[in-house]
Amino acid sequence: MGLEQIEAPGILVSRLDDAVGWARKFSLFPYPFVTACCGMEYMSVSCSHYDLDRFGAAFPRFSPRQADLLMVVGTISHKISPVLRRIYEQMASPKWVVAFGVCTCTGGFYDNYATVQGIDTIVPVDLYIPGCPPRPEAVLKGLMMLQEKIQRDGRKAGL
Ligand code: SF4
Repeated sequence: MGLEQIEAPGILVSRLDDAVGWARKFSLFPYPFVTACCGMEYMSVSCSHYDLDRFGAAFPRFSPRQADLLMVVGTISHKISPVLRRIYEQMASPKWVVAFGVCTCTGGFYDNYATVQGIDTIVPVDLYIPGCPPRPEAVLKGLMMLQEKIQRDGRKAGL
């Protein structure tokens, strides 16, 4: 967490942005935007076996105003894309976006007129987790990478 020892022995100090980053990365409130089959794997990773509580990310919020982690899970059609954008805009900053599964990352198999070819054409994406669907282990690895990013960014994301 960026702790440093100063002259007096036994006294540790930490920079504020390190402390804020540390607190934020362990208090994520995901909003699951689930549209398709990846939702099954998303539900499995949310079960007790994988214990998302240890990352402080187990408590989903179904109001975008109470969430800071938009989990986009499943194929996104052009028809629903304005809804996704609206939900993103309703979330307070700082906020992060995860593309869960290859369909959200690139459109996946659905290279057609109806499917968005990557949600980063609609909202900024912080983390891509490929796979069809991604295994829970990949999701946990992604979550840890996102935590590192949040810690790195510290207060840059705004207070
Ligand atoms: S990546 Fe695979 S499992 Fe996930 S929504 Fe697309 S087709 Fe379904």
